[in-house]
Amino acid sequence: MEYVEIAIPVPLKRTFTYSVPDGVEARVGSLAVLPFGHRTMTGIVMGASSSRGNVKIKNIIEVLHSAPVFSQKMVDLLKWIADYYCAPIGEVCKAALPLEFSRRTKKKREVMPKDTIIDDVFLSAPEFKLKDSQAKAYETLKSEVRSQKFGTTLLHGITGSGKTEVYLRLFEDVLKTGKEAIFLVPEIGLTPQVLGRLTARFGDLIAISHSGLTPAKRAYEWKRMQDGSAKIVIGTRSAIFAPFKNLGIIVVDEEHDSSYKQDESPRYNGRDVAVMRAKMENIPCVLGSATPSIESFANAKNGKYHYLHLPDRPTGALLPDVDVVDMREVNAGSVLSPQLIGAIGEALTRKEQTMLFLNKRGFASFILCQECGHTYTCPNCNITLTYHKHENTLLCHYCDYKTPPPQKCEKCGSSRVIPLGTGTEKIETELKNYFPKAKVERLDRDTTTKVGVRPKILSNMKQGSTDILIGTQMITKGHDFPNVTLVGVIDADMSLNFPDFRAPERTFQLVTQVAGRSGRANRKGTVIVQTFMPEHYAIAAAQTHDFFRFFDEEMPARRELGYPPFGRLALIRIQGLKEKMVETSAKDLFRKLSTINYKPLTVLGPAPAPLAKVRGKFRWHILIRSGDIKAVRQMIDRVAECESGLPKGIKVIVDVDPINML
Ligand code: ADP
Ligand code: ZN
Ligand code: ZN
Repeated sequence: MEYVEIAIPVPLKRTFTYSVPDGVEARVGSLAVLPFGHRTMTGIVMGASSSRGNVKIKNIIEVLHSAPVFSQKMVDLLKWIADYYCAPIGEVCKAALPLEFSRRTKKKREVMPKDTIIDDVFLSAPEFKLKDSQAKAYETLKSEVRSQKFGTTLLHGITGSGKTEVYLRLFEDVLKTGKEAIFLVPEIGLTPQVLGRLTARFGDLIAISHSGLTPAKRAYEWKRMQDGSAKIVIGTRSAIFAPFKNLGIIVVDEEHDSSYKQDESPRYNGRDVAVMRAKMENIPCVLGSATPSIESFANAKNGKYHYLHLPDRPTGALLPDVDVVDMREVNAGSVLSPQLIGAIGEALTRKEQTMLFLNKRGFASFILCQECGHTYTCPNCNITLTYHKHENTLLCHYCDYKTPPPQKCEKCGSSRVIPLGTGTEKIETELKNYFPKAKVERLDRDTTTKVGVRPKILSNMKQGSTDILIGTQMITKGHDFPNVTLVGVIDADMSLNFPDFRAPERTFQLVTQVAGRSGRANRKGTVIVQTFMPEHYAIAAAQTHDFFRFFDEEMPARRELGYPPFGRLALIRIQGLKEKMVETSAKDLFRKLSTINYKPLTVLGPAPAPLAKVRGKFRWHILIRSGDIKAVRQMIDRVAECESGLPKGIKVIVDVDPINML
């Protein structure tokens, strides 16, 4: 009898032993149907088992698909992810496979039309000669592609410096050698331009992978990659699991973007997994960004990554002037400074476009009783409800709880309840007052719930029929609208005041990225940044587009606190429905952890999480920090041991290399 270890998508950090009946071939990476408890489930064959002849071992029922769904290399990668991120291996496998997993599959219709929705305005395949630094970067990377050896390169190029053009040429080279390419982007729905450029050049060889696709479409694209009819995948983080057999390069664009990190189990970072996959496949990996993460730039400085710099734009377009408006000097209560209003007016007169950024949707960020100071918070989450005027509702942005706005204060009965704070909806209303003739559009989650609306708003913008586009972070990424000459950042402090050590980094990235949307063509752009903290180094460095200055100012702060890249972190979240029980459990866990003396390692906390309650669950944090990842790992093992002693109803979540500190 042959025995195999199977990964089953259940939240347990182990595999399960099964026997393989005669006549069934269970190769590593195969998808197998099996009895699990009283259910029939599917799982992945991870390898041979050393167990022998245990009576309790059950038979596999059958193996699905004629070939394994994961290669041996991919199985190794999945094991690494499960181990490194302390995630159940079955959940990792499930995250990596967009095929029907937990039920038996029926034979589905195999043919599906390609239904990519790209507006024609985005289809373009211009031919041009690479500019000096671009050509040098390309040649260097090309020789890495030729040599097919592992190495990670940070391609640091300012916004519009032609990074995408370099990637596209590398893909051409890779394809010529009969190999395949993975192209990770933070959010695909937002970048029809890039999709258009890829499609124009590579047509049907492109596969698309992101969570917005229907399961059938995802499975269809996955099969096109597996059978070799697609050669390049463009997709969000899970595209790193593309089932290519002959991978030649991995490119991670906007490598600093926090959306590469998955916020649920398995909590992997697509960028870091990309580097690991490239290492296992022995191929080059390119990380591109105009605003590299502090970690990646530090890796470039210490020689772990190669470094290539694109300091200017091949189109000759200059970076915009950034004017910082000190909001302390603007009338209290105005959300749009006279400077910004003036600049918008001028842009309208010149028939040029404006983009305004505010990372808060809705009309007012909270409702306040002027009599007693009461604010309205979500009953499930410890945060204020946002007022949405169009729908006339108070809404929780974390759990979607809705309630009608109050006529009277629920606490003191006063009718002096007023909406305060700003959201994109309010800016839209104000703009319509100031500029009644202007065509204003808004791009945020409220305006894009319907399929097809988002691409429409973007193509209206591209075609120039929109004068002013206001939006949340949806407008910051990757867009190339040549007629935009003014960008306004309405409230730079919103990200700066976040209770997170990466707040300055996020702010620098955000301002630099949105600024990069202004003046992409032959007219110089302007950026207006509104802030109460104009002297903050993140703002000052963004004002001069000076990444190096930002890095130099940020590093000492990180060093002092032992944060990345100087220390490695694991965030332990203790959560549950009962507040007191969560607190006691967190303190209990902390006490047990602090009896151990792994040096050099610090256990910080326990403390209520900055978001102390979300969706009805209370949250406490313990932070493990060390310069030595091995010490962090040892401590995590201890967490797993101590976890079993905690009361039922308490969940302990381990987040290795956390990005979301809330
Ligand atoms: P990035 O990815 O760094 O933002 P892109 O590759 O999108 O930059 O290039 C920015 C703009 O410059 C695009 O409109 C692109 O078509 C154009 N471009 C890129 N390389 C060249 C070049 N060598 N000559 C002329 N235009 C170029
Ligand atoms: Zn009141
Ligand atoms: Zn809520």
